[in-house]
Amino acid sequence: MFCYGIGTVSELSCDTHHELMILLQQWGLRVNKPYIRICGTPTEVIDYCRHLEDIREQFFYEIDGAVIKVNSLDMQTRLGQKSRSPRWSMAYKFKPTQETTTITRIHVQVGRTGALTPVAHLKPVELSGVIVRRATLHNQEEIDKKDIREGDLVIVQRAGDVIPEVVKAIKSKRTGREKRFTMSSRCPVCGSDVVKREGEVVVRCPNSNCPAQVKGAFKHFVSKGAMNIDGLGDKIIAQLIQKGLIEEEVDLYRLDLDDLLKLDKIKEKSATNLLRAIENSKKTTLARFIYALGIRHVGEYVAVILADHFGYIERLGKATEEDLITIDGIGPQIAESIYAYFEDQHNRDHINWLIQTGIELEAPSLPPASPAAGKTFVITGSLSSMKRSEAKEVITRNGGRIASSVSGNTDYLIAGESPGSKLRKARNLGIAILNEDELLKLFGDDRE
Ligand SMILES: [Zn+2]
Repeated sequence: MFCYGIGTVSELSCDTHHELMILLQQWGLRVNKPYIRICGTPTEVIDYCRHLEDIREQFFYEIDGAVIKVNSLDMQTRLGQKSRSPRWSMAYKFKPTQETTTITRIHVQVGRTGALTPVAHLKPVELSGVIVRRATLHNQEEIDKKDIREGDLVIVQRAGDVIPEVVKAIKSKRTGREKRFTMSSRCPVCGSDVVKREGEVVVRCPNSNCPAQVKGAFKHFVSKGAMNIDGLGDKIIAQLIQKGLIEEEVDLYRLDLDDLLKLDKIKEKSATNLLRAIENSKKTTLARFIYALGIRHVGEYVAVILADHFGYIERLGKATEEDLITIDGIGPQIAESIYAYFEDQHNRDHINWLIQTGIELEAPSLPPASPAAGKTFVITGSLSSMKRSEAKEVITRNGGRIASSVSGNTDYLIAGESPGSKLRKARNLGIAILNEDELLKLFGDDRE
C-alpha cells in the first residue's frame, strides 16, 4: 500500500502536503515517492498527468489516473469540502484501456431489484491484466442506439474497477450472420410480464417472489459491505432457497448443522465454518446493517451517512422525508425511498425479526445529531412520567453519559420530586437543571 493522507491529527508539524508525505515516510510508512511531483503551473500539471498516462503500462500494479492536490495545507483548509469530495483535490482519469473481441451471445440477467440487464458473453479477452468474459449492455435502448448484435466483433473497455462495457460494434467486419437482439417482454426467470416505470429506461420484473430477485437479495445481504458472511456463495444460497430452508434473510440465522448437511457437496467441517460465519455476522455496525437491508438508492456511502446521523436504527425508522432531505448527501429520491421502506409494516417486521435473532449493532461513538452527545447527566429525585431506568436509557441512547454525583463536569441535572442536596449543589455550580418534560423535549420524546 501507499499512504497518501492522514485523518484526525492533534498537532501537525508541516505546512504542505509534500512535507506531510516526507513525514509519513520518516515514520516508516510507505508513500509513492518516486511519482509524487510538485508542479508550479497548470501546464506542468497537465504534462505530468500525460507523462504518467504514457508510462502506465510500466507500473507493476494497475493505475487508472492521477490525483492533483493543492500543496498548501492552509489553503486546503480554506478551500474545504463538498459533501463527497474536497475542493483542493481532483482526479485525472486516464483513458480506459480497450480491446477487441466477439460477442458469442447476449443474455438477460435479473437483479435483486428486478431490473433486467442485457449482458454480452464475450470470447475471453485480457483487459489491463484481467480476463473479461462478460460486459454489460445496460438496456435495450443502449443496444439499439449502438446497434450491437450477437456475433459482432466489438470494442470493450474497463475503466478502473467499473464493470466492463461494450463501446461499439465494428460494423465493417460483419459477415451477415450477426443476430439482432430484442429483450423479451417476460422475465427470463419467472415469466412475469415486465414493467417499465415512467421516466426509467430500465425494465423490471414486478414479481417480488421471483427466484432471481430473492436470490439477489440474499447475495446482497451476505455480501462483504453488508453482513459479510464468508463462505455463503451463490451456489449454497441457490440450494438453500431451492430446498426451502430460507425464504427471508432472518431464516439464515435459524439454520443449524442438520439443515446445512442436507446440501450437496458440503462436509461437516465447512458446514460448521459457515454456521460460525453466520453467527459472527451478528455483531456488526449500523451502517452495514442499513446497507444490508437493500433499500433502493441506499448504497454503502449513503448507509454510512445515515448511520452517522441517526446512530440507531429506531431513529432512522422514525425519520420523516423532511428530516431525511435536510441531511447533507441525501437527496429527495433517496429520502423518499427510505421513508417508503420504513412505512411498510413488512419491512419493519423484517428488521425486528433480525434484531430478535441477536443481531447486535455497535453503538455509535457520538451521535452528532443529538444535543446530548458527549454530555454528562445526573438524575436526582423521583420521576413521575417514567422510570429512572427509562430516563437513563433515553439519555444513553442519545449519546449522553450518566454520572451519579454532581461535579464541575456535569452538564445537566434532571430533577424530579424531592431532589435533595444534588439540586443545591448543581445550582451553586451553575449547572443547567431540567425537569422531566424538558428532558423529553431535549430529545424530541423518542421513548419506545
Ligand atoms: Zn422474474
